[in-house]
Amino acid sequence: SDAIRILADIPAAQANAFGDKPAVEVEGRTLTYAELDRRADRVAGLLAAAGVKPGDRVSWLGRGSEAFFEIFFGAARARACLAPINSRLAPPEIAFILKDSGADLFFVTPDFFDVAQEVVSQVDRPIRLIGVGDSRPGIESYEALRDAAPAGPAHTPVHADDVLQLYTSGTTGLPKGVRLNNANYAAFLKLRTQVEGFDYGADDTVLIVMPLFHVAGTNISFAGLAAGGRVIVMPEFKPAEVLRTMQEERVAHIFLAPAMINMLLQQPEIASADFSALKTIAYGASPISEALLAEAKQRFGCGFIQFYGMTETTGAGSYLPPDAHEGELLRSCGKPWPTLEVTIMDDGGREVGPGEIGEIAIRGEIVMAGYWNRPEATAETVTPEGWLRTGDAGYRNEHGFFFVHDRVKDMIVSGGENVYPAEVENAILGCPGVADAAVIGVPDARWGEAVKAIVVRAPGADPRPEEIIAWARQRIAAYKAPKSVDFIDALPRNPSGKVLRRELRKPYWEGRDRMVG
Ligand code: ATP
Ligand code: MG
Repeated sequence: SDAIRILADIPAAQANAFGDKPAVEVEGRTLTYAELDRRADRVAGLLAAAGVKPGDRVSWLGRGSEAFFEIFFGAARARACLAPINSRLAPPEIAFILKDSGADLFFVTPDFFDVAQEVVSQVDRPIRLIGVGDSRPGIESYEALRDAAPAGPAHTPVHADDVLQLYTSGTTGLPKGVRLNNANYAAFLKLRTQVEGFDYGADDTVLIVMPLFHVAGTNISFAGLAAGGRVIVMPEFKPAEVLRTMQEERVAHIFLAPAMINMLLQQPEIASADFSALKTIAYGASPISEALLAEAKQRFGCGFIQFYGMTETTGAGSYLPPDAHEGELLRSCGKPWPTLEVTIMDDGGREVGPGEIGEIAIRGEIVMAGYWNRPEATAETVTPEGWLRTGDAGYRNEHGFFFVHDRVKDMIVSGGENVYPAEVENAILGCPGVADAAVIGVPDARWGEAVKAIVVRAPGADPRPEEIIAWARQRIAAYKAPKSVDFIDALPRNPSGKVLRRELRKPYWEGRDRMVG
């Protein structure tokens, strides 16, 4: 609605418009819009009383919970910034991010109490631990503090206030804190209503299975709340439960990483599932194979919308709308969001024309304010003209549709030719007996790097390497096809479903340096 100028406005505006309507549901608990508004206000009061000032960070580590939204919106109202931490990280990594964020207040759910106490002792500044749902010596009760808190301060948030500090997935290196401010999210909220398939409505139920420390988890939630819809958060991705919830709760919209779509399609229950309430499946965060997309379209029978973007661009960038999911565009990551610019640049930062491969760059109001405390990394990533260099290689066609190949750092140089792993994976994934696959470059005396496929076999199947290689050679140029195949039980993935290719490469590169990545 018009009353929503920035994210911080959502609870009050929606309490007005929708009062007792459910806003967030988690594991059977329901929070209405009126309650979300009241609690966010108490959190703002709690933070102000604790000495949190505009511009300060507060941190969060935990399972998906309605409290996440209370604290996020409360912090935004207090002009503070929430910096959630990836709960799948190891304690030293959590300590790194907690330290990096500078947060003095640390909200934690009970399953992370032990880890939180351990990491807090490693940070050389005092940090107040606040337990969500429980307490113990050394960890105060969030609910008690919230319910006793005074009303929130009369701060008026401004566009330049950082509101969410999301750490990148760390797929290619150490996670970096991405500063997203109210201006970024004002643009996101405005533009998403103009993106076909993303204009969620007040009667829609939106299911969140992406983690809330990832830009897809927060953004899809914000889109649902800004629409006045009902947002159901599933703290863990359990395929059978996701399918059941989608049907029982008449879910209209869901965002899935391609690896999640793959898992859902492998559930036996999918054959008899009823998706009549389902309007769209949004997907993105990593490349999808055509075979998987084709099967998903047929099985779910709903609209599909692809998002290509990144934390640094508030998750926005390009999108492939439902009606463009045909023919060669099934390999495309779509066209720019309204008013955003997407282009392809060469190594020197010059824009190149249709058909030419280069680095994808994005410009617009959704480009981050910068990396937190990393001016050099920011300067390397955002050009003086405001282009965000994505680190992804790709090209555009003559009709303005973009095709993302892969990360520049994952490109394989074999015999002087550039090979993008995603294209090879795409070719292999339709091969009978192949359940999942990743492609990496391994050292090779003759080729410099040789293309290797690491394959997960389908249950009961035993495809031979020669069969997989022959299958690929029928579909892509011989130099791109794998020279060898190894098998593995499961691919290492991060919580947003991305294959950790650098982990797969490690055993093959022991003691050597790769040119890129
Ligand atoms: P880090 O920057 O720490 O290495 P990350 O880049 O994985 O982590 P995110 O910001 O979560 O962190 O992911 C953005 C990246 O995900 C993009 O740069 C791109 O490589 C990939 N990606 C996102 N959407 C798509 C898509 N639709 N198709 C292919 N790849 C995608
Ligand atoms: Mg990145």
